[in-house]
Amino acid sequence: MTEKKVVYIDLDGVIVDLIGQMHIELAETSKVYKEKTDIIDDSETIFINAKPIAHALESIAELEKYYDVYILSTAPWHNVHSWSQKRLWVEKYMPTMFKKLILTHHKEQLIGDYLIDDRLKNGAAEFKGKHIHIFNDEFPTWQSVLDELILNKFQNIPNDNGTYVTHNLQTKFGELDCVYQIWLYGLIQGSSLIFHKNDIKDLTNEELENLMRTSPLMTDNTSEITISSTSDYYTFINFNFECLD
Ligand SMILES: [Mg+2]
Repeated sequence: MTEKKVVYIDLDGVIVDLIGQMHIELAETSKVYKEKTDIIDDSETIFINAKPIAHALESIAELEKYYDVYILSTAPWHNVHSWSQKRLWVEKYMPTMFKKLILTHHKEQLIGDYLIDDRLKNGAAEFKGKHIHIFNDEFPTWQSVLDELILNKFQNIPNDNGTYVTHNLQTKFGELDCVYQIWLYGLIQGSSLIFHKNDIKDLTNEELENLMRTSPLMTDNTSEITISSTSDYYTFINFNFECLD
């Protein structure tokens, strides 16, 4: 099985609507706080009662199909309830994150490919992978994050040395997303359909080959088909080999 890229996701303000719960508790309490946000360090219920942010849970379920996802959150040092309540919140709303919750004030120490975080604090700005600064200019919504991480799932297709791609088209093969390429390698011309491994994980190579043989893309459906899975993320079905000599 291929190693998936690692995505860390912040909790507060990204998955958990802490500010919404802050306003609810401010309206209910008789305590007076100097700053509204001071209640976050003081409340014994804010972290367990906060609700999910719209689209967050569905978006993360989608990300989990393609990435190894962890929660990377900072619990306020002075609110000891927050440490256990974050753990309980994750169990309630995100059961797939079993033992995948990391609480730290030093997010820059984690090794991974992406960090989805709404702030620069607690090491987010120094994270060594790509910081996806959600709910800011570049990534204003969860959908924009999915566009970056999933809809661009074909952005890292490797190109063999010596292969010249003459046509490159992102398309569908039946229900499956794929890229259709025509290429030249010396005097050999060929075609490839390239799939993300996650999209075809339930299909055997034999099933893929059989699907290919019934496809109108094949100029001669008795000719050779090769299947290459050497890339970490993509499977290539190669066909229509032709010597141009
Ligand atoms: Mg946050």
